[in-house]
Amino acid sequence: MFGQPVAGNPTQYLMEKAFVAAGLDWRYLTLEVTPEQLPAAVAGVRAMGFRGGNITMPHKLAVLPHLDELSRAASLIGAVNCIVNNDGRLLGENTDGKGFVQALRASLDPAGKKVVILGAGGAARAIAVELAMAGTAEITVVNRSAERGEQLAQLLVSELSATASFQLWEGDYSVPQGTDLLVNATSIGLFNSSARVPLVLDTLAASLTVADVVFNPANTRLLHEASKRGCPTVDGLGMLVNQAAICFQLWTGISPDVSLMREALEEFLSV
Ligand code: NDP
Repeated sequence: MFGQPVAGNPTQYLMEKAFVAAGLDWRYLTLEVTPEQLPAAVAGVRAMGFRGGNITMPHKLAVLPHLDELSRAASLIGAVNCIVNNDGRLLGENTDGKGFVQALRASLDPAGKKVVILGAGGAARAIAVELAMAGTAEITVVNRSAERGEQLAQLLVSELSATASFQLWEGDYSVPQGTDLLVNATSIGLFNSSARVPLVLDTLAASLTVADVVFNPANTRLLHEASKRGCPTVDGLGMLVNQAAICFQLWTGISPDVSLMREALEEFLSV
């Protein structure tokens, strides 16, 4: 994994547990890489014959020109979190949205559903693209700044022929009646269990599934409020574990034990 700062990232811990469980004598390294050294670090992946790797902030966009090809999802999202080295050719993939959808499926099949996504940053883009690919009926992107939100809604319409629109987020947002899934894809709540996502909580009907990308704390204030109202909830740990599991599968060809990876993550984060 290349990132900066990257110390404290849990992925190595999960991956190495999964390698052992799969009987693979493999290693996963977490490496502090500066933006200036990113091209050299990627060249090192080729030079040293790494099977692949993860890319995290701030390199998810900057890594694109150093790769040989991109998956359709990575190209639409415009960011890469996973590299696969196929005999010296580096493929850029984005597994964040796929991990989200995989975690969601335990509670809700997104096909034909009406979705509201709060946020339009990297996580929101990855989730929106994969939800559209999974056949959602309608996606509303709600964001504080118009430009990013409009761009995302436009991308979904023009590239994926999805039914999607943008709504500016001003004050407390009322979730429209009939919405099946609400996703908080903003960073509100990260490392802050009292942070409030500006919503009219009375509009969270018990039929609404509420998901949060924030994984620390896992039980965010939003998820807590949603479960009090009877809504099924999906936490950010599921997305984190599943995006890592998909990378593991791409590198090794083996489906890892996802529940073991989740246990490792909970142990690492002491949740
Ligand atoms: P970005 O910086 O790309 O995007 C942040 C988004 O949050 C933007 O839409 C921004 O709005 C919005 N936002 C931030 N603060 C506020 C606020 N106070 N009010 C309203 N909107 C706000 O970040 P990422 O998309 O990369 O990450 C978002 C979150 O997702 C982080 O918490 C990250 O940890 C988490 N994440 C979780 C993963 C997982 O596996 N569980 C994987 C990847 C990310 P604006 O455009 O107006 O600035």
